[in-house]
Amino acid sequence: MGKPSRVKAALCYEVGKPLVIEEVMLEPPGKNEVKIRLAATAICHSDIHSFKGEHGTVPLPAVGGHEICGYVEEVGEGVTYVKPGDKVIGSIIPEGCGQCYYCKVGLSSQCTTNRLALYTPGKYFTQDGRRVTQYAGAVAGFAEYATIPEVNLVKVPDDLPEDRACLLACGVISGFGAVLNRAKVTVGSSVAVVGCGGVGLNAIQGALHVGAYPIIAVDVRDSKLETAKRFGASHAVNAKTEKDPVKKVYEITYDAWGVPTFRRIP
Ligand SMILES: [Zn+2]
Ligand SMILES: [Zn+2]
Repeated sequence: MGKPSRVKAALCYEVGKPLVIEEVMLEPPGKNEVKIRLAATAICHSDIHSFKGEHGTVPLPAVGGHEICGYVEEVGEGVTYVKPGDKVIGSIIPEGCGQCYYCKVGLSSQCTTNRLALYTPGKYFTQDGRRVTQYAGAVAGFAEYATIPEVNLVKVPDDLPEDRACLLACGVISGFGAVLNRAKVTVGSSVAVVGCGGVGLNAIQGALHVGAYPIIAVDVRDSKLETAKRFGASHAVNAKTEKDPVKKVYEITYDAWGVPTFRRIP
C-alpha cells in the first residue's frame, strides 16, 4: 500500500462560514477501496444544508460533495469492478451486498453490510493531523482526489460529459428512482411533482419516461416551471400566484364531472 498523498480539498471548519481550500493528506486506497481523480462534482442542496448546520451536527472539519464524476487512479486490494483509467460516478448509496435480509427483499439501499452513512470518519486528514469527516458517506468530492469504497462507484460511458455524469450520482437517481422504483408509476397515470429543483426535475423526467399523463409541475417560481416543461411536464401550476393550487391540479386531472381527462398514451 502506498503513502498518503497531498491533495487540495475544500474544508468546512465552521458552519455558516465559507469553505477553506487547503492541502490535506489523503490516505491511499485500502482493501476494496479506489482512489479517484475528480473531474466534476456537483453541489447538492444537502451539502449546503450540512454546511449551514441544518442537517444535525457534522463533526468538523468536513469535506462534502457527493455527486461526483472522475477517473480511477489507483485500486486497493480486492477491487475487481474497476481498473485505472475507468470513468466512474460516485454515489452516497452503495451497492447492496445481495445477501442480507434487506437486499433479498429488494431494499438494497437499506443493506446492513454496505451501509449508507451520512457522515463517516474520512480518508483525509489535515496538515496538523486531524481526521476530516466525509459528508454523505464515503464520497467527499470537493477535492482533487478522493478515496472511495468500490461499492459506491458505477462505471459510465467515456463519451458522457463529466459535468452531466456527476448529476446521476444523487439528483437524478433520487427523482427518477422515486417515480420508477418507489411510486411505481405506470403508463397513463397522472403525476404532480411539487418542487421543481434538481430532484423534482428528475421526477418529471421519470414520469415522462414511464408514459404518465398529465405531468403537473408545481413550484412558486415561473422560471422553474419553464424548465420543468422542458424536462417533460405537460402542465405547470404556480402555487404562489394560483389562488387555489390544489383545486387547479384537480382541474387539470379531472374535468367538471369528475371524469379523468383524456389520457394520452405516448
Ligand atoms: Zn445529494
Ligand atoms: Zn445487503
